[in-house]
Amino acid sequence: MSARIIPIVDHHYAASVPSVPADTGSAPQQPTDRFQRPLHDLRISVTDRCNFRCTYCMPKEIFDKHYEFLPHADLLSFEEITRAARIFMSLGVRKIRLTGGEPLLRKNLERLVDMLHGLRTPEGLPPELTLTTNGSILARKATLLKEAGLNRVTVSLDALDDAAFRQMNDVDFPVAEVLRGIDAALAAGLGPVKVNMVVKRGANDAQILPMAEHFRGTGVVLRFIEYMDVGNTNGWRMDEVLPSQQVIDRIHAAHALHPLEPHSVGETAQRWAYDDGAGEIGVISSVTRAFCGDCNRARLSMEGKLYLCLFATHGHDVRALLRGDPRSGLAPVSDEQLRAALAQVWTTRDDRYSLLRGTAAGLAQRAERRVEMSYIGG
Ligand code: SAM
Ligand code: SF4
Ligand code: SF4
Repeated sequence: MSARIIPIVDHHYAASVPSVPADTGSAPQQPTDRFQRPLHDLRISVTDRCNFRCTYCMPKEIFDKHYEFLPHADLLSFEEITRAARIFMSLGVRKIRLTGGEPLLRKNLERLVDMLHGLRTPEGLPPELTLTTNGSILARKATLLKEAGLNRVTVSLDALDDAAFRQMNDVDFPVAEVLRGIDAALAAGLGPVKVNMVVKRGANDAQILPMAEHFRGTGVVLRFIEYMDVGNTNGWRMDEVLPSQQVIDRIHAAHALHPLEPHSVGETAQRWAYDDGAGEIGVISSVTRAFCGDCNRARLSMEGKLYLCLFATHGHDVRALLRGDPRSGLAPVSDEQLRAALAQVWTTRDDRYSLLRGTAAGLAQRAERRVEMSYIGG
C-alpha cells in the first residue's frame, strides 16, 4: 500500500490527500470506522456563500467585505460532486443532504439534484435527497427542486417575531418571506418539512413557545438545536447554551409532551409528541447529550474536502483525487482507486468530539482551528 500523505494548507483549512491503496480490490463493501460506525449519510456543502449573517454562524465582523470566499474554479463541479456521491453510495451512503453556506445560492442547484436523483444504490434505489436552507429563496425554487427529485427540505428559522428574526439573521431579512418558503415547500410536496431553530440563551429563547405554537398542528416538525461550539468565529460560550431539557420543560408546561422512539439509528434529534395529537417536535442536544456513538455522517465541502466530524480540524482532499493534483504530481484516480481511498479514510475514523468536549482531548481539539459551520454545513 502506498502511503501518500501530502499536507496542503490553503487559506481555508488544512487537508491532506488520502492515500490510494495499491490493492484496490480488497476495499470493504460497507466499511465501518474505529468505533464500528457505518457510513450512511453524506452532507454536501455546495457553496461557502450566504445571504444571511446569523450571529452564531457567520458573524458580520468576520464575514465582511474583506472575507475571501472561494473562487468558482475551486468549487467541485456538479459532475465531480455526482461522481463522488456515486462512489460514496457504493460504500453505504443512502441519504444525501445538500447544504452550505446557503445552498440555494448555487446556480442551477436543481440540475445537481436531478443528477444525484439519477444515482442508484446497489439495491437499485435512488438516494434519499434532502436540503437544508435558510428559506430565503425557497418560494421561488420549491417546485423546481421537487421536480428534479428532491425528497424533503429542512428550513432554518430562529424566531417568529420579525424583529427578533431580523436580529438573528443580521441582514434585516423578514420572517414572512421564510414562512412563504415553507408554505411553498409544503405545496410542492417536499414534506414533511422540518424547521430548525438554533436556541441561543438570551438571544432568541423567548421565541421557543411562540415557534412551538405556530407550528403545532401544521405537520411541520420543529426541531430545537443547542447552540454549538462549531468553528472559531462565533465567540461561543457555554452559558449561552440552553439545554434541550429546558426547551422541553418550557413547552411541556404549556402543551403536554411525551417522548417517541427514534426513527432510525444515528438520528440526531430526540423526538417528542404532543399528548393532544398536534404533532411532534425534536431536540438536537449535541452539547448536553452527545450522540457520537451512532454518528454515521461524512461531510464533503464545496471544494471537495472530506470531513468526518462537524468539529474536525483536518480534512481529506478528495478533489485532488478527482482532478489530480499538479502540486504533488498526482494524476486523477479511477473510480476503483477513489472507492478504495475513501473506504480507507472511513475505516480510520475515530472522531467523537461531542463526547470528548469536557475532557483534555476535547479541549486540545478546541484549541486547534476547526472548520466553520458555513463551510461544512449543519
Ligand atoms: N444556510 C442553510 C441554513 O441555514 O439552513 C444551510 C447551512 S447552515 C450552516 C445549517 C444549519 O446549521 C442551520 O440549521 C443552522 O441554524 C445551523 N447552525 C449554524 N451554526 C450553528 C451553531 N453554532 N450551533 C448550532 N447550529 C448551528
Ligand atoms: Fe447562512 Fe445558514 Fe449560516 Fe445562517 S446558519 S449564516 S443562513 S449558512
Ligand atoms: Fe458526529 Fe462529530 Fe457530531 Fe460526534 S461531534 S455526532 S462524531 S459530527
